[in-house]
Amino acid sequence: MTSLRWGAVTDVGRVRTNNEDSLLVESPLFAVADGVGGHAAGEVASAIAVATLKTVFGAEPSRDGLADAVRRANEAIYDRAMEDPNLRGMGTTVTAVALVEEEGDDVLAVVNVGDSRAYRMRDGELEQITDDHSLVEEMVRAGRLSAEQAFTHPQRNIVTRALGLQADVEVDCFGITPFEGDRFVLASDGLTDEVPDPEIASILRRVTDPDEAARELVELAKANGGRDNVTVVIVDVVDDNGRAVKASEAIAAAPAKAPPVVERSIPAEPEPEPDPDRGVRAAHPPAPVEPAPRRRRFTLKAALFLFALIAVLAGAFFAIGLFARGSYHVGIHDGEVVIYQGRPGGLLWFDPTVKVRTGISEADLPPAFATDVREGKEEPTLAEARQYVKNIEDARTPPPTSSQATTTTTTAPPP
Ligand code: MG
Repeated sequence: MTSLRWGAVTDVGRVRTNNEDSLLVESPLFAVADGVGGHAAGEVASAIAVATLKTVFGAEPSRDGLADAVRRANEAIYDRAMEDPNLRGMGTTVTAVALVEEEGDDVLAVVNVGDSRAYRMRDGELEQITDDHSLVEEMVRAGRLSAEQAFTHPQRNIVTRALGLQADVEVDCFGITPFEGDRFVLASDGLTDEVPDPEIASILRRVTDPDEAARELVELAKANGGRDNVTVVIVDVVDDNGRAVKASEAIAAAPAKAPPVVERSIPAEPEPEPDPDRGVRAAHPPAPVEPAPRRRRFTLKAALFLFALIAVLAGAFFAIGLFARGSYHVGIHDGEVVIYQGRPGGLLWFDPTVKVRTGISEADLPPAFATDVREGKEEPTLAEARQYVKNIEDARTPPPTSSQATTTTTTAPPP
């Protein structure tokens, strides 16, 4: 059983008169919603979002249940806006995490719509784990804007996806394996527009108590301007039921194979080396139940390295497969000319497969083509392979002569 500890703060900020953010702290479910709309409609939208999340996820506490809860929240807000002219056009973001059980293990399900964010701090490194559905973040992902430019961009508050604006909504949903010492943060843009990520990370490293850390983050956002409502939810994994230790031991026992229990824990990128000067562990110690954090950390690191190695090997296997299957050739199959996908004779364990039968028998091959086809005539694309076959067909049936063409036109009777 994974144990969590959490803290949360929401604040109207220093400019707005009402707080349109809503939060939900109902372990194992945590959410932040940032509402928009005039006449306090934003408050209504974000409140409906978290209330629907609580009810629907409560009835089906799974990853799918969580994604479904977000879609149901969208419908509820949309329907309400349709009924009440004062609420028309209201919408809200929602970012939520929930601890769910999958195949006997605990997984943290994450859902997101809009530009509120979820972060994970692991070993002192802060990583945003959700994609913002906002104009500027899409420009950042497309390489047209740097993260620094996005932070100050005048249009940074334009969201490209939100709940309540349309009858249907696309929901980002994924799961991550929670490890002891992980710290997850949900935040509305009132935090992330005012406080750059490195400063968020610094507070998260320094302040162990989740409530206290959330309060400090909100205070910093207000000190930096507080132009929007600010909401922060922090969820700490204080016990992972020995998951990290077990993963390491399983790797040590069977170094050649990755056991199924660790599949989900392969990181997106290799763990960066911790800065020894930063004193990560000292600044953010895990729960006191862990007797030997350093040893566990080392074995976890070794395990992660091995997973990364396996991922690289899998990638190489996949790349060879792509290369082997990435071209076509015209050859012979059972006395018939065919187009194969794959390289002549195959490559490693990838045999070519018949893609197109042409109906041309090997015996009918024009001499100019026979040798090439018997050896396997390689073509980079299917279209080029088809063109090569067409060339064979053209060579077998000579084009009509000019005299034949003349005959057909002149024999037609005049009108
Ligand atoms: Mg906001």
